[in-house]
Amino acid sequence: MVMASPRDALDGVEHGTVLVHALGLGHSVAVCSCGYSGGRRFLKAAAEQDAWEHAMVRHCEVSSPLVVAW
Ligand SMILES: [Zn+2]
Repeated sequence: MVMASPRDALDGVEHGTVLVHALGLGHSVAVCSCGYSGGRRFLKAAAEQDAWEHAMVRHCEVSSPLVVAW
């Protein structure tokens, strides 16, 4: 039996970890292990905002460090 974390117990939804993939100049994208994927962003800050917004809406964890080179 797999124990659910306290966070999962709150709303019964599976949560992931969201992070930003920096794919190069002018191409960053927020992706989450729950299956979420933000659109391609020209600004890394915009992708970071996508990640934070997703984390708040879906109650996913925000990765640390948030931005990783891919
Ligand atoms: Zn997520």
